Amino acid sequence: MNTTSETQSITMELGDEYPEIRESVRRICADFPGSYWRELDEKEAYPSEFVKAMTEAGFLAALIPEEYGGAGLPLRAAGVILEEIHASGGNAGATHAQMYTMGTVLRHGSAEQKQRYLPQIAAGKLRLQAFGVTEPTSGTDTTKLKTRAVRDGDHYVINGQKIWTSRALYSDLMLLLARTTPIEQVEHRTDGLSVFLVDMREAVGNGMTIRPIKAMINHNTTEVFFDHLRIPADSLIGQEGKGLRCIMDGMNAERILVSHESLGDAKWFTKTSVKYANERVVIDRPIGKNQGIQFPIAKAYAQMQAAELMLRKSAAMFQAGLPCGEFANLSKLLTAEAAWEAGEACMQTHGGFAYAREYDIERKWREARVQRTAPISTNLILSYIAEHVLGLPRSY
Ligand SMILES: Cc1cc2nc3c(=O)[nH]c(=O)nc-3n(C[C@H](O)[C@H](O)[C@H](O)COP(=O)(O)OP(=O)(O)OC[C@H]3O[C@@H](n4cnc5c(N)ncnc54)[C@H](O)[C@@H]3O)c2cc1C
Repeated sequence: MNTTSETQSITMELGDEYPEIRESVRRICADFPGSYWRELDEKEAYPSEFVKAMTEAGFLAALIPEEYGGAGLPLRAAGVILEEIHASGGNAGATHAQMYTMGTVLRHGSAEQKQRYLPQIAAGKLRLQAFGVTEPTSGTDTTKLKTRAVRDGDHYVINGQKIWTSRALYSDLMLLLARTTPIEQVEHRTDGLSVFLVDMREAVGNGMTIRPIKAMINHNTTEVFFDHLRIPADSLIGQEGKGLRCIMDGMNAERILVSHESLGDAKWFTKTSVKYANERVVIDRPIGKNQGIQFPIAKAYAQMQAAELMLRKSAAMFQAGLPCGEFANLSKLLTAEAAWEAGEACMQTHGGFAYAREYDIERKWREARVQRTAPISTNLILSYIAEHVLGLPRSY
């Protein structure tokens, strides 16, 4: 076994940190109640007003360093923002990518690229909300992705297709992973992939086409087609051929951030379940008096508390600069499962009313489900733990 906890020691806070951030996000979210999200869900529309409010409050620049006009907050603080959005009944899907793609740009972008883009992103003049990795044929097997970027003088020419590229229609910039050297010509299949920061304002209509996907949740997700799209060679982030590493070293941050969303969902479901179980009277007693109703809520609460501890641990390790792959993955797994269990309990507690849209439960339940599939599926986390933590044989 190779568990990081055996070798590292860290200190982590247990109190409700960042109370001012929590309070401020809650205040903004109070202006965007369930009816706001319901209406968007029905129309499959983008939460422009919510994104504007969060941008103006500076929350979408949480991880951008102060020298570029951002807040320069630690990862945990950014996570708390996402958690509070979800715990309030909202959804951070329209906003989170700007946080989790930021690590790649900060760590691997050139000084010139950071100066060109970050102040504008921090000021809310540019949106970096699209992240193009997944493709229809290769799926989870990222090294087999087929989108090609071929150098042609001062440009790269891009051909291929991405799928599930969320928010592409509402973003100015896309972080794109494409193959620059054919897989047959590289020693390791992880080599030969490169990351580009594509200016979509110039690309759309000039080789980039975006088509919305009708999906189970309102995530503004799309298919993106590249047909001889020419982008300036200086769109390359980091070293050519080493792009997978640039993306992978941002994965722990991404996992920790999105885990906060699941935690927020679990909190919302639990609060909603308890309220209804106390209020709803059937057969002359509040339904919450029945252990058949109490126990699933209590069990989900216990899972939520345990998942939160793991999440705090992974965030503390990340902040301390310690290897945290194991704990970031465990957090992602446990928070997604805790949200799912809390969602199930909430559905069951509400009986038929859970299906009525005006209660928001079925919407939150659909939204919470996605975390078991994206940005990484439960299976792939389990195989990471089995192989990299427990030392079991590689399964794929
Ligand atoms: C709402 C939504 C938004 C998304 N947004 C984005 C985005 O913005 N950008 C982006 O790039 N992608 C995005 N994705 C894509 C998401 O990351 C993928 O759907 C996810 O990684 C799984 O890939 P896949 O759908 O191709 O599944 P597949 O790779 O086809 O896998 C299908 C199933 O088989 C399992 N599986 C595959 N191989 C193994 C194995 N070796 N062992 C065990 N199980 C295995 C998988 O875990 C999965 O459960 C989004 C997806 C959704 C649903």
